[in-house]
Amino acid sequence: MKPYSGSIRHDYKDSPNEASETPKRHWSWFLFGLSLPLLVVTLFLVTESDESEVVPVLDIPKTTESPVPLSLPQTTSATIDSDLENGDPPDESIQLSVGPGESLELLFRRHDLSLADLSVISRLSGAATHLRILLPGDEINITHQEGRVTSLMREIDEASVLSIVREPAGFKVEIIELHVESRLVGAHGVIERSLFEASQDVGISDNVTMNMAGIFQWDIDFIQDVRIGDEFTVMYEELWREGVKLKDGEIVAAEFINQGTSFRAARYINDNGVSGYFTPEGRSVRKAFIRAPVDFTRISSNFNPNRRHPMLNTIRAHRGVDYAAPTGTPIKAAGDGRVTFRSVRNGYGNAIILQHGGNITTLYAHMSQFAQPRIGTRVRQGQTIGFVGMSGLATGPHLHYEYRVNGVHRNPRTVTLPPADPVPTDYRESFQMTVAPLWRQLDAYRRTKFSLNSN
Ligand SMILES: [Zn+2]
Repeated sequence: MKPYSGSIRHDYKDSPNEASETPKRHWSWFLFGLSLPLLVVTLFLVTESDESEVVPVLDIPKTTESPVPLSLPQTTSATIDSDLENGDPPDESIQLSVGPGESLELLFRRHDLSLADLSVISRLSGAATHLRILLPGDEINITHQEGRVTSLMREIDEASVLSIVREPAGFKVEIIELHVESRLVGAHGVIERSLFEASQDVGISDNVTMNMAGIFQWDIDFIQDVRIGDEFTVMYEELWREGVKLKDGEIVAAEFINQGTSFRAARYINDNGVSGYFTPEGRSVRKAFIRAPVDFTRISSNFNPNRRHPMLNTIRAHRGVDYAAPTGTPIKAAGDGRVTFRSVRNGYGNAIILQHGGNITTLYAHMSQFAQPRIGTRVRQGQTIGFVGMSGLATGPHLHYEYRVNGVHRNPRTVTLPPADPVPTDYRESFQMTVAPLWRQLDAYRRTKFSLNSN
């Protein structure tokens, strides 16, 4: 499930940035300059990253043992010994921090590292793809002997590190898997002022709160509908490495009680590509279409069959909705579908038409730019297909959005949207077995927290 991208009222001071809470490149200190006991590191770190330990939801550990030894054995390898005997200089360690627009070549030049080595390294199979894209803030750890690279390490993601080590036969490329542990935690809150405050009071990050709102966005308008006294219970994964919390993972199950009505959803994934959040009855929480496929600032023109066109000054039906938004705002595919048109079309300017199931098409006009999906490509709901602009006949940047059923224009703001696919009949049993314990845990969590709160 994609994170909720709509707007939610934040009626409190800004919270610290999520990124700053994340431990910064925690692995780097021990990998830094450790080309010698790398084999030892590898032996300790190669573990099944998908073998996640689930902690009972009612028993949230505050501290844990480190799954990876923090102090590495102080051994030296034969290679280094012989190097020292040969009188070679010892390895020096440097950390390259990537600045805006900086390339690996530039960083190598700056630190007097061998460009010949870079040329070899960047063509190594298994390494090239992980070195092609550098982003500002990325870090690359290198050891070298007077510019001659002996090792290069780069974090690929939370669970893996690219390791390139010079060996007598040449550079050896390895992907080191780090042990990332997933823990299930839960919390229950009651809204007294705002959803965000209530979440923070019970220790839930804004990110998890946004994701929870994203799950229920189809049933609850989080700007208009939320009331004091509304309650929520959420169970989600936390990702830990070496006893340090990396970040919050996905929501496993959640309940939101809005004005007395309970909405429940649990994540369900099976091997046949069914994945998403479903109600206890196995219905998808999603609709097959997003109501407004752009984060808009205002609706600048409604669906109106008898509108006077602002530029042409003639009566001309307005068969869509105009959502005003700054130029460059991403435009999302309203539903799963296929790109059937992607070009300039008269007054529409840069336009895209998507063909969906059920003989529904959607049209997106006045784009400043198209995104990647080309004509004929399948797109997923929420995928960016282009960017807001004012190409064609437009007085300001906006998305003109049309929704047609069997070729007939319908008002995108009021048309009844079809539900997304439910859990297929063949998987109902598997679904019920997966989610039944989750509902029980939600209930237990809610009861426990209630008794604590009411004291
Ligand atoms: Zn329009």
